[in-house]
Amino acid sequence: MENNFACRICNGSFSGRATQPQEINGWVAQVCSVCGPIGYSREAWDDFDRILGGEKNRLNRAALSHLLSNADREGAQKHYFLTSEQLTAGRDTLTLPTPPIQRLNFIRIIGDHLVREGKEFVQEANTVARVGSFSNDAFAALYEQMKQKGLIIASKTAPRRDAFADTEVWYPGFDLTLEGWELYESGKRGKEAGHYGFVALQFGQPELNTFLAAVTPGILEETGYPLKDVLKFQRAGIIDNIMRDQIRNAAFVVADLTHGNKGAYW
Ligand SMILES: [Zn+2]
Repeated sequence: MENNFACRICNGSFSGRATQPQEINGWVAQVCSVCGPIGYSREAWDDFDRILGGEKNRLNRAALSHLLSNADREGAQKHYFLTSEQLTAGRDTLTLPTPPIQRLNFIRIIGDHLVREGKEFVQEANTVARVGSFSNDAFAALYEQMKQKGLIIASKTAPRRDAFADTEVWYPGFDLTLEGWELYESGKRGKEAGHYGFVALQFGQPELNTFLAAVTPGILEETGYPLKDVLKFQRAGIIDNIMRDQIRNAAFVVADLTHGNKGAYW
């Protein structure tokens, strides 16, 4: 299959490749080496640019790639389905992580791999998006600073043949220094807090939403921490990995205990 089409979301920003869009049962399906398999409603596909448009178009796309590249795909449902309603409702919540959080994300990706595999982490097609960098250049700058700070070391490059590349691609390999491992450990224990609070509650409870809308400005004013609300995208099923990371990185979490939604209490 030819995999040389532009992804509706990342549009090649991270040097990703995507399959030819296919119409299946009224949905448009496309698999991107960065964003993964996505199903779009016809309207979401056609109006994608307009919905995520404006000045923040590229930023919104990068933030959505960040969410989708981190989404847990081990469940039964491989595709994430996006409708124009979800995109419209969620676009204002799309933000990229700050550089300190990107740094933690990258440390975590390398460290988790080393713990699991016992050998160096070789960059993958979706690594830049998973870290949350705006572009390949921004990621290169982040990496340079992390190297200067003695957190990571580049090891030899290794060829990797992925399903999307016609030829073998040489990606750099990364290892953690002792300082990098210390940051990995403190990040795991939640000691490297991000500058935001996280809201975990059941979706679709109008009274809670009203309550939240009323108290959120007060929380920001009193604590100086904005509240991160990923609820808009929870409906799209993009909750698992990204939520775990956001909870781990949050300075505090606001959790709703009234509805017995154990998924929200993770
Ligand atoms: Zn993509």
